[in-house]
Amino acid sequence: MVDDRNSDERASPEKRISGQVKQITSVSNPIVKDLRGLVLRKNRNKSNLFLGEGLKLVTDALQKKWRIEDIIYGKSFADQDAIAQAAAKVRAAGGSVLEVSNQVLEKISRKDNPQMVLGVFEQRFQALSTVRPKEGELWVALDRVRDPGNLGTILRTADCVGAKGVILVGDCTDPYSLEAVRASMGSIFHVPLVKASEGEFLQWKERNAASVVGTHLAGAVDYRTVDYSGVSVVLMGNEQQGLTENLANACQQLALIPMAGQADSLNLAVSTGVVLFEARRAALTL
Ligand code: SAM
Repeated sequence: MVDDRNSDERASPEKRISGQVKQITSVSNPIVKDLRGLVLRKNRNKSNLFLGEGLKLVTDALQKKWRIEDIIYGKSFADQDAIAQAAAKVRAAGGSVLEVSNQVLEKISRKDNPQMVLGVFEQRFQALSTVRPKEGELWVALDRVRDPGNLGTILRTADCVGAKGVILVGDCTDPYSLEAVRASMGSIFHVPLVKASEGEFLQWKERNAASVVGTHLAGAVDYRTVDYSGVSVVLMGNEQQGLTENLANACQQLALIPMAGQADSLNLAVSTGVVLFEARRAALTL
């Protein structure tokens, strides 16, 4: 999506041409403005794109065949083999290559010491109707997760336990925000994401006869005693409010992680990790 005119000329995103290398040295270049705009959810939604930092992210995306709109790197790093190779692959796949000054890199990433490489990727969501858990497959569902760091960490953890994907129930934070992508450490490209309203999730659960274990501070069962063999979804609650009553009532079991000490609950991402690893241990797949 890169303009074929010389660097720093006025360009609209529509006029950018893919598969080309473009030099950008001015922070006032309109392409820089477009890229910076991806920090806002409304712009990500409109363009169906998102920004991520680091060469690893770009290589993860390439490996999993995600569409990469742009690879952006600092001119001073242009001669690094790994960057040149990644740029060649992005270009071959029809993406654009932006070779930029350090100031431009800082401006786009909004950081004083930015990563050498940034990428602009196409967002992907799997439709809920296509999710049909088979025996032994585990999905994670999150009720109104608000914190992008929690969401990214959960994606990474879901990846580590080999969960099939993450279902975002209700009004959740955007998994494609810079913070969530950063916290996922590349797992954003490896863990399928599904969006559903609470009603859609509950209907889907009924239609697929999915067995759901919810985690709840008023849980009746110690999470270590749950029989995870037939369980297809582990459902986690919102950071402030926990699970809605509707969701809690729909769970086959509500599990509690017993706690010592004075804290009233565990962090959402930590508790997700605890339960997922127990579920996998019980299923003896790790
Ligand atoms: N004030 C909230 C409440 O009353 O539920 C606390 C929510 S907690 C920070 C966020 C989510 O993490 C919970 O909804 C639950 O899914 C999970 N969680 C945290 N600690 C837990 C525990 N000890 N047992 C079971 N689930 C827990």
